[in-house]
Amino acid sequence: MAKAASIVKAIHDSDLEKVLKKLGLYERLVRGELKCAICGRPLTLENLGGLYHDNDEVKLVCNRIECLVDAAERVRRNRISRA
Ligand SMILES: [Zn+2]
Repeated sequence: MAKAASIVKAIHDSDLEKVLKKLGLYERLVRGELKCAICGRPLTLENLGGLYHDNDEVKLVCNRIECLVDAAERVRRNRISRA
C-alpha cells in the first residue's frame, strides 16, 4: 500500500499533463487510444492512475488500487534486476 501511495503522490506532485505531452501520450490518452498496462481497460484523464518505466518504455496504469500496487511491484522488480 505504501508503494502504491508513493506512485500516486509522485504523479500528483508533477504536472501530469505536461509530462504526458512531453512523452507524446497526451493526445493518444484524450483520443482513448491508451490502455492500462495491467488490466487493459481504456484510459482517460479521469481514470489515469499513474505511469512507470518498464525498461525504456513508458507504461500507463489506471487508478484501480490493484493496478497501482502491481505497477509498484513491477517498478521494484525492475530496480532489483538492474542493480
Ligand atoms: Zn488497470
